[in-house]
Amino acid sequence: MNEVRIPLHGSGQALYVAHEKVYPREIDGRFERLRTLSVWVLLGIFYLFPWLEWNGRQAVLFDLPDRKFFIFGLVFWPQDFIFLTWLLIIAALSLFFFTAVGGRLWCGYACPQTVWTETFLWMERRTEGDRAARLKLDRGPWNANKLLRKGTKQILWVSFALWTGFTFVGFFSPIRALAHEALALSLGPWETFWVFFYGFATYGNAGYLREQVCKYMCPYARFQSAMFDKDTLVITYDKERGEPRGARKRGTDARAQGLGDCIDCTWCVQVCPTGIDIRQGLQIECIACAACIDACDEIMDKMGSPRGLIRYTTQHALDHKATHLLRPRVLIYAGLLGALVVGFVVAVSLRSPVSLDVIRDRNSLYRLTDDGNVDNVYTLRILNKTEREQNFRIEASGGSKLTLLPADREYHVPSGDVYSLPLRVRRAAYQPLGAETIQITVRSLDDPAIHVTTRARFLAPAK
Ligand code: SF4
Ligand code: SF4
Repeated sequence: MNEVRIPLHGSGQALYVAHEKVYPREIDGRFERLRTLSVWVLLGIFYLFPWLEWNGRQAVLFDLPDRKFFIFGLVFWPQDFIFLTWLLIIAALSLFFFTAVGGRLWCGYACPQTVWTETFLWMERRTEGDRAARLKLDRGPWNANKLLRKGTKQILWVSFALWTGFTFVGFFSPIRALAHEALALSLGPWETFWVFFYGFATYGNAGYLREQVCKYMCPYARFQSAMFDKDTLVITYDKERGEPRGARKRGTDARAQGLGDCIDCTWCVQVCPTGIDIRQGLQIECIACAACIDACDEIMDKMGSPRGLIRYTTQHALDHKATHLLRPRVLIYAGLLGALVVGFVVAVSLRSPVSLDVIRDRNSLYRLTDDGNVDNVYTLRILNKTEREQNFRIEASGGSKLTLLPADREYHVPSGDVYSLPLRVRRAAYQPLGAETIQITVRSLDDPAIHVTTRARFLAPAK
């Protein structure tokens, strides 16, 4: 990226710091393996889910034109918007809870920026080599080798980015039809736009911007400190044990030389994807990926020193005080989260596949017929939220004997349709009751388990 210099008036200082490309060294270790596993699982979900079938349709599909979301056996309609809101609240609370307990776990292991950057970095390493080779290649002149390696990397990056854009669109438009259209080069203009837009965003963010997204664009990095306390797990360099740092021969007694355990090899800096030095303390740029822990553990093993010079720990532990996992904010987050998750599961499982609105006719309270019957008129709105057409029958019940006009009629409601109908409920003349609350039930003739009951007010003259 080119440096843009804006001189301060009279001082000659730049306001803008030039970006220095970070060349993270590859590392193996327990946390790296955990991160790789997380990348596989999350990318697997993203790239495979739109291809799964469920009941003869795409298992996960957010069908915006028809305003319905399919998630395996569940279908959500605009009326179910509350569940989406509920899910977002659960996601936000989960972030608060896990951050309060384990720091930036989300950033290090699950954030899409981390996951796709890891994947793009993997392709870069396979084509351009390790950290030293990549540095040499970038500093060297353009030649056939550089052209071949950079060209291969770009082909892989662009293909993967376009596949990502295509998959993203496949969550909103049936992916098999989309694949046929893409192969026939007949994608619609909007689909083409979103495939390229999302592909380009992936290419730019994971290929070039990388740690700059975390450092300068992500709002979470800014407010995370509000969720930290001295009992939160953070990745920290143990200054007390490591300092004074300095090189020494393997097997020699560092203490006798007046040194700490840090041999100043800078491996922890070289593996860092954001290019910071964890030995300078907790920094906003640290995404808690734990690569520096793996690097330092490897060095400690080689030097015959105990692991954990850089480790997950808490400020209280570093201050030789007790760490409290169960503290008020964690308990409050956990309690709220548990209640919301249980409530969500119960609400989704009890969700009725048909909904019914009963609206009274505002023009008349009730009508007395010539032979003394009392009629109330309502408008019914039936929404069929199932995936099939349903034939419904309507029933009314209350403290008196009620009949419906028209009686015994069936109503055919296609999947996803709202059916409006006028309904007259009649109470016979020989029942001298006043007003009462009645139940109106809509029952499917195709599946007796599908029914819904709503209460309505039946008005009549006082007895
Ligand atoms: S990897 Fe460990 S030993 Fe090497 S510089 Fe970092 S903290 Fe010191
Ligand atoms: S300091 Fe360590 S944990 Fe933080 S981003 Fe760098 S390598 Fe990852």
